[in-house]
Amino acid sequence: MKPIQMVDLVGQYHHIRSEVDAALVGVLGSAMFIGGPEVKEFEKELAAYNGSKHVIACANGTDALQIAMMALDLKPGDEVITASFTFVATVEVVGLLGITPVFADVLPGTFNLDPADIERKITPRTKAIVPVHLFGQVADMEPIMAIARKHGLYVIEDNAQAIGATYTFLDGSTRKSGAIGHIATTSFFPSKNLGCYGDGGALFTNDDELARKVRRVCNHGSEVRYYHEVVGVNSRLDAIQAAVLRIKLRHLDEYNAARNKAAAFYDAAFAGIEGLRVPERSAHSTHVFHQYTLRVLPAAGMVTGGRRDGLKQHLEAHGVPAMIYYPVSCHLQNAYKSDRAPEGSLPVTEGLTREVLSLPMSTELDNEQLTHITNTVKSFFTQQ
Ligand SMILES: *Cc1c(COP(=O)(O)O)cnc(C)c1O
Repeated sequence: MKPIQMVDLVGQYHHIRSEVDAALVGVLGSAMFIGGPEVKEFEKELAAYNGSKHVIACANGTDALQIAMMALDLKPGDEVITASFTFVATVEVVGLLGITPVFADVLPGTFNLDPADIERKITPRTKAIVPVHLFGQVADMEPIMAIARKHGLYVIEDNAQAIGATYTFLDGSTRKSGAIGHIATTSFFPSKNLGCYGDGGALFTNDDELARKVRRVCNHGSEVRYYHEVVGVNSRLDAIQAAVLRIKLRHLDEYNAARNKAAAFYDAAFAGIEGLRVPERSAHSTHVFHQYTLRVLPAAGMVTGGRRDGLKQHLEAHGVPAMIYYPVSCHLQNAYKSDRAPEGSLPVTEGLTREVLSLPMSTELDNEQLTHITNTVKSFFTQQ
């Protein structure tokens, strides 16, 4: 059996090696390393794929979030509502800009923001909502957009984990993740569903004026060289990364299908295991399985989290890596603790940090590996 990794990027590269190598040699020969035609073409191709009018590439997904908030002119004192059960990037840029993060709880099934709790957290200072499409499913955008309209708020989709997922509205119409809010961001970190071979990120919007502001913020606040209209940043995508991304974008749907196939294998193997919950499928979103995340429910008489941690150790002892995304929620991190969201104030989020466990997930898992992983999980529950 091939050794099992959380993500197998070497295996994936081997399938596209000749295409990638040729494209990289092309960039080297052109000596256009920053911006240039590869980046322009990639932006156009990604916009067409996603059904978004504008795509603006930048240096990484964290920058993309910061640039979105700068382009929307969010200021110190403004409040932004987001999830605490997520990667720290959103909260970090909110903090850097002097904006106040306000955390809403998530739904225990999909791990995505609970629209009812968003509405409870709105104050006169609230300016924006940042739904994070966690682990590969789109947050429930229809009610979130309705809340935003009612209160005059911006919606910034953090689409770093769900690129390629589709959301279905009540009237049956569909949109891709990242094409629903006023603006959206994504990351091309190598292990993301659409990953490059270094750092990369992008912003999406259908609003011409906002797209112009985003380009200006990315480029030192400047539209005409050496004239600076606003405070900006330097955030741009390398041509080498764009060349890789153009190739991988053509495979994205096939990659997401391979992830779904592995997820279906897991689901079937785990059906009926007492104390284990397979990831719930949202009623309104397809799943692209950035992560396959189990909930290990607490066992009677064991400390909370004990059975989850025991399963993780058991897997690792049998050559199966497993990860906890995320062991500490943002509102309990030392950097972001505040009286406004003390321990106990986000019960679903806090419970999930003690229950979740993500299994290996990539485009390259074969049946032999999947069988070993699922048998190892099952043996943990039968030995108890
Ligand atoms: C990866 C990720 C980011 C940050 O992207 P980088 O490219 O690593 O800066 C932001 N938000 C979420 C939800 C992510 O998963």
